[in-house]
Amino acid sequence: MYVYYKRDAGKYFSYNEFLKFIEKKTLRTIQKYDMLKHDDVIAVAVSGGKDSLALLYVLDKIEKKYNTEIVIIHVDEGIKDYSEYSEPIVREHARILGYRIFNASFRELFGYTIDNVAELFNDKKVEWEPCSFCGEWRRWALNYLATKAGATVLITAHTLDDFAQTILLNIMRNSLDRLLRLSYSRKKIIEGFVPRVYPFMELYEKETALYTHLLSLEHNDEPCPYAEMSMRWNIRMFLYSQEEKHPGILYNILRFHQNLIQKIQYMPPVLNKCEICGFPTPQKICRAHFFKKAVDGVVKSKSEL
Ligand code: SF4
Repeated sequence: MYVYYKRDAGKYFSYNEFLKFIEKKTLRTIQKYDMLKHDDVIAVAVSGGKDSLALLYVLDKIEKKYNTEIVIIHVDEGIKDYSEYSEPIVREHARILGYRIFNASFRELFGYTIDNVAELFNDKKVEWEPCSFCGEWRRWALNYLATKAGATVLITAHTLDDFAQTILLNIMRNSLDRLLRLSYSRKKIIEGFVPRVYPFMELYEKETALYTHLLSLEHNDEPCPYAEMSMRWNIRMFLYSQEEKHPGILYNILRFHQNLIQKIQYMPPVLNKCEICGFPTPQKICRAHFFKKAVDGVVKSKSEL
């Protein structure tokens, strides 16, 4: 019996074939982009959702053969009816697999939850929607936790869908610097920044989700209540409809970007250390603390939150 039809390849997979396909494809991606070294301490960002749990279990299988160490890092965004379900799930998987876990919340790190900033956004007190805060704070928090864990590399579960969305998003926002800075290998060493790699970057989100379902891994299936407020959501929906009609276009977008960054000689901006946290940034303060300061500026007293 078949469990999956891969439309872009015109191929059917049985249960065992599909699990093997995901594991092999992940290993091949790691090798193709030179993502890992044999003695790495690997921080895996696990949100508790389908993709990150699939990643954790695939890496657990692959890395058993090597001298690497895996640690789990987890960030609590502070989103009611969403975030609180994730931590116990992540802890349970850490216990089952025997991995150390490092976690922190946006409240501890920045003084606010995403629910707090969503309220300010609804009251028109801040101009950015919750996902903007969440994205910048998460990027900072993952680096902070990976550093704390002594990791030499940070792995996130970004899929082909995420990359295609990010590429289009940067085009639509005229963010050329961000578009050209988007990289797929760990070659660039930036002091203060744990290198990031993405072993699921050539897999569809529906494929990583199916892996989690087929292994019956407990995960947080609640949708984030703020997801639909972001521009990314609209791009996601647009790309789903296009991929449905023209299988393979997500790959085309990824390949287009890879060709582009190969052909263009990009001079990255000189990086400073954030005046508040020391995080590498082309500005005086990093984006995460820029957003924190924006909230500090409109919140008179924390007790009103
Ligand atoms: Fe954060 Fe937006 Fe994702 Fe919700 S949808 S977890 S607010 S980035």
